[in-house]
Amino acid sequence: MLKKVLIANRGEIALRIIRACRDSGIKCVLAYSEPDRNSLPVSVADEAVCIGPAPVQLSYLNASRIISAALVKGCDAIHPGYGFLSENPDFAEAVEASGLVFIGPKPETLRLLGDKVAARQRMKAAGVPVVSGSEGVVENFKDAAKVAKEIGYPVLLKAAAGGGGKGMRLIKEESELEMGFSLCQAEAHRSFEDTRLYLEKFIPDARHIEVQILCDAAGNVISLGERDCSAQRRHQKLLEESPAPEVTSDLRHKLARWAKAAAQAAGYVNAGTVEFIADQQGNCFFIEMNARLQVEHPVTEMVTGVDIVCEQLKIAGGDKLGIAESPNWPIGHAIECRIYAEDPDNDFQPSPGLIGDLILPTGPGIRVDSYLYQGYLVPPFYDPLIAKLIVWGRDRVEAIRRMERALFETSITGVATTVEFHRRLLSSPRFRKGNLTTTLLDDIW
Ligand code: ADP
Repeated sequence: MLKKVLIANRGEIALRIIRACRDSGIKCVLAYSEPDRNSLPVSVADEAVCIGPAPVQLSYLNASRIISAALVKGCDAIHPGYGFLSENPDFAEAVEASGLVFIGPKPETLRLLGDKVAARQRMKAAGVPVVSGSEGVVENFKDAAKVAKEIGYPVLLKAAAGGGGKGMRLIKEESELEMGFSLCQAEAHRSFEDTRLYLEKFIPDARHIEVQILCDAAGNVISLGERDCSAQRRHQKLLEESPAPEVTSDLRHKLARWAKAAAQAAGYVNAGTVEFIADQQGNCFFIEMNARLQVEHPVTEMVTGVDIVCEQLKIAGGDKLGIAESPNWPIGHAIECRIYAEDPDNDFQPSPGLIGDLILPTGPGIRVDSYLYQGYLVPPFYDPLIAKLIVWGRDRVEAIRRMERALFETSITGVATTVEFHRRLLSSPRFRKGNLTTTLLDDIW
């Protein structure tokens, strides 16, 4: 059992992890950057330690400072949250080498899953369906052209080291391939310092469906069911729900089976997410596995009653999974709206600034994960996610109505937000019908 955890993150997720530590009877220390000194997570953590100035390279990505802070404060583990160092195998290795527990999978698992080509090959070998595409890396545009001809256009060029929607390029026909290949390689080099590309068939009007899993060190693996995250803008999720509309219980079982096979094939330990893309016929294919806690984990918590972060702490402390899959899951329906300090009328430009009035919704079936307070200065240096509104209803119709109530009550002044954007999304007939695809937001906004 862990006694004291250092949290190497900020914002709503730092607060979420602090809450799980407190609920688990574990002390927590928050590592923060100078501009985050006055943030809510700093004031509610048991202890807090400044690890450097605003630039992330000097603070939230500064592995040696973070590990030193954990050692000085007498912690026995580090929770990386999401983003920052959460999926960095070198960091996980350094944490272990200093005698601390990394709350996440093993470094070798992070290394495997961070290489999307290797992950794809491993999953295929384990019998998990993958999108048709290149066997491995495509060395040049001529090789890419050969594969594309076989599988048929449109195709997606993807960076082997890709993530966060970067390093992905849609190629509609052969004439676009030579230029597209160079541009995609250049972006992959810029973003990841790794020019390796692979190729997948592009699935039009796809749905993004992902499965939450939990694995302990003894090899027990369970599925907590799926989430639909098709409401995306530029491959970035904005609204998520569980269960996924139109997923039958037969498909749910299949997805769970594949997700567990994927986790086992990767030697996975702790909480993770296996992402699939579904075509219009309902066929699902593995696209990647995210080796960390996800922003959208609360919708799964709402429909299972499992506290995923508390489970992460237990697993990292060496406990066996104390929960089993329940035939009653999913219980009801949950939706999450991500509220960003961004201006939807101005191409979603970040809108940092001083929070004026702040009214966040409460009442039956509503959960808010937010680190905002009145008079808080949202800094310009970091991801602009400021709040997550999560609702639960007995069914999707009730959940939508509750989310409308939550959005109606929400009032945040001082910064532009995506609240109004979500009101519009929820009122669109396509969303209400559950006809979600990754192009939905482009069609509405
Ligand atoms: P990242 O790691 O950058 O998030 P992913 O491989 O998870 O990249 O893909 C992100 C999003 O891109 C998916 O949620 C989906 O919207 C879209 N996408 C990925 N692969 C395909 C595909 N083969 N066909 C259609 N859309 C895809």
